[in-house]
Amino acid sequence: MSPTDSVSHEPVLQVRGLTKAFGTNTVLRGIDLDVPRGKVVALIGPSGSGKTTILRSLNGLEMPDGGSVTVGARGASADKVHGADGALTIDFAQTLGSKKARSQQLAALRDRSAMVFQHYNLFPHKTVLQNVIEGPVQVQKRPRAEAVAEAEKLLARVGLLEKKDAHPFELSGGQQQRVGIVRALALKPQLLLFDEPTSSLDPELVDDVLGVIKELADEGWTMVIVTHELAFARQTADEVVFMDGGVVVERGPASQVLRNPKEKRTQAFVRRLLHET
Ligand code: ADP
Ligand code: MG
Repeated sequence: MSPTDSVSHEPVLQVRGLTKAFGTNTVLRGIDLDVPRGKVVALIGPSGSGKTTILRSLNGLEMPDGGSVTVGARGASADKVHGADGALTIDFAQTLGSKKARSQQLAALRDRSAMVFQHYNLFPHKTVLQNVIEGPVQVQKRPRAEAVAEAEKLLARVGLLEKKDAHPFELSGGQQQRVGIVRALALKPQLLLFDEPTSSLDPELVDDVLGVIKELADEGWTMVIVTHELAFARQTADEVVFMDGGVVVERGPASQVLRNPKEKRTQAFVRRLLHET
C-alpha cells in the first residue's frame, strides 16, 4: 500500500523559483518548496494567494512561466510506484521546444503526482469503479483486470466497495471525496496533492475524509496538502508553509508555524482562522 518501506530524506519534490502570471496578474513570485520522501507539507494562506496554482503546476495542469520542478528520485521504493525510473526535472524557463514536447513533459509530471480536488472532479457519467480505473487503464496502459482488482481493494479500504457501481450523484460529498482519494492512489504516484479536500463538505463529513488522509500520512505517503483545517495540519503535517501574495512568507515545523508564528502576516492569518472555527 505504502510507497515507502524505509523513509529516507531524499526529496520527492523540489520546486525552485516557480513563477506564474495570468495576464497582468502575477500569482506566483518565485516559490521554493521541498518535500522529503514520506513527509507531509501543509500549504496554508489566504484565498487568492496562489495555492491552487502551485498544485496545478505540480500536476501538469498549469504551465508556469519560470522556475523548475523536480519530482521523484531513485530509491529503494522506486519499483513500487508506476513509472518511477528516476527523477524528472522540468525547467520552465527554458523553451521546451515544440508544443508536443511541452505536453509530453507535463504528462510525465502528471504521471508522478496525483491530485485530489476541492470539488472532487469525478466523471459524472462514469461509475465509481470506472472513475478509479480510468487513469491506470487509459493513461498508464495497465491491464484492466489488474486495475480493477487494485481499485476494489482501495475502495474496500475506504469503506466504499459496495458503491463501486454507483454514480457520483448517488454518493454524499464525503463519499465522493473518498473516491477522489482512491482515484489518486490508484495511479501509484510518488506524490499526492490535496487541494482543500474538505472545504466543500458538510461539517459532519469532514472528519471521515481527514481520517483517511491522516492514515495515508502515517503510512508514509509524500504529500502536499492545501487546507484551512489548522488542527488537522498540526496533527498531520511535518512542515507548514504559509504563503501570501504569491510568496512564501513563513515555513517551519507545523507546531511552530501554527502555534508560534514569527511573521506578522502569519500571526494575523492563523488568529483569524482560529476565531472563525
Ligand atoms: P488560492 O488557491 O490560494 O485561493 P489560486 O491559485 O486559485 O489561489 O489563484 C491565485 C490567483 O490567480 C487569483 O487571483 C486567481 O483569480 C488567479 N487565477 C487562478 N487561475 C486562473 C486562471 N486560469 N486564469 C486567470 N486567473 C487565474
Ligand atoms: Mg485554491
